[in-house]
Amino acid sequence: MADKLFKPRGTQDFLPPMSDTLELIKAKIADTFRSLGYHLIETPIFEHTELFLRLGEATDIVQKEMYTFKDRKGRSLTLRPEITAPVVRALLEANLHKTSDLKRFYYIGPIFRYEKPQKGRYRQAHQFGIEVLGSSSPFIDFEVISVAMKVYESFGLKDLKVSLNSIGCKVCRPRYREALLEYLSGKVHELCDDCKVRYKRNPLRVLDCKVDRDKLRDAPKPIDYLCDDCRAHFNHLKGLLDKAGVPYEVDHHLVRGLDYYNRTVFEIRANLAGKYLELAGGGRYDYLAQEIGADEEVPGCGFAGGLERLYMILEEAGALPERSVPLVVVLPLSERARENFVAIFRELRPKKVISVAWDLNLRKGLRYANRLGADEVIFFGDRELEKGIAVIRDMKTGDQREIQFRDLKAYLESG
Ligand SMILES: [Zn+2]
Ligand SMILES: [Zn+2]
Repeated sequence: MADKLFKPRGTQDFLPPMSDTLELIKAKIADTFRSLGYHLIETPIFEHTELFLRLGEATDIVQKEMYTFKDRKGRSLTLRPEITAPVVRALLEANLHKTSDLKRFYYIGPIFRYEKPQKGRYRQAHQFGIEVLGSSSPFIDFEVISVAMKVYESFGLKDLKVSLNSIGCKVCRPRYREALLEYLSGKVHELCDDCKVRYKRNPLRVLDCKVDRDKLRDAPKPIDYLCDDCRAHFNHLKGLLDKAGVPYEVDHHLVRGLDYYNRTVFEIRANLAGKYLELAGGGRYDYLAQEIGADEEVPGCGFAGGLERLYMILEEAGALPERSVPLVVVLPLSERARENFVAIFRELRPKKVISVAWDLNLRKGLRYANRLGADEVIFFGDRELEKGIAVIRDMKTGDQREIQFRDLKAYLESG
């Protein structure tokens, strides 16, 4: 095969068994969301570039990481680098924000970022998350953080930690920004090259620079500059987390990669072999709807987590979910056996996973079943058909028993 026909750099194919496991993971995530009143929303994987430019031209994502292209009519389109803005766009476009009900959405799908390919970073990655629109209550921030934790807990990840911060609002953030700029002005020459640019365009992002973090320990803290409303919101949220026993710590350097956040920002981390790894992040975005054209404020709050990241952590923790329904390999061993099975196959509505090996003998069939990790093999050839039976072999114990051939369909359909 020519290189040009291989998958593009930074992308990956999901093949079995990983693809099967990913399906199980996605189903479990969706279950958690649905059980808490969230509805699936699906938006196109590309949008007008303009939508994402509104996320703030100073952000790294918009600056360096977008897949932007012109279509045949010369329109500028961009493969979505995140899913919050498309969800809010869809809500506004359908006028759903005009009703006073709370909107709860969840999504699971691909995002695209032109990242330097390295371990765990892909140019097409998958995110899942929720967005709650229509309320600025701190109870919503609390709910979103709790739902994010529930998703990870549903996989048995227990030692989770929430990092929390408040980055203020339109009223108080400019005051903080000024204080930060003044503090940074004497330090710019010490900062990394990225931060020298961020300092001018988006000074808040300097705060969570991994390279410079230690140099900025005594930087002014956003929470010391909050207005009364923002402070009340933050204190209320912390009180709710305390009441619910959610372990969190305030991280004064936590800002998020996108400009649309206000007030609450948070990250969820999991302890893996003594190291806390970031799993998901989110926060409140009360101005985003207006940024993308709403004529009124539509407050929102949400989180997003990486699917590949979750898979990697579950794999390392030995906690990948496993198929819960039995897998049965059916081996019709002769021409007559195969012909006797076609009508059953056509009618079959199995609750188990049934995989038919149409053209293998017993020895090869058992090997095939082993490779699949089958729980049972059911075989029948001319000899069994003479007696009107089929043989069920338990693949774990090797025990064999007979069933009446006329009961085979009912057996395969039983749970
Ligand atoms: Zn404020
Ligand atoms: Zn830096």
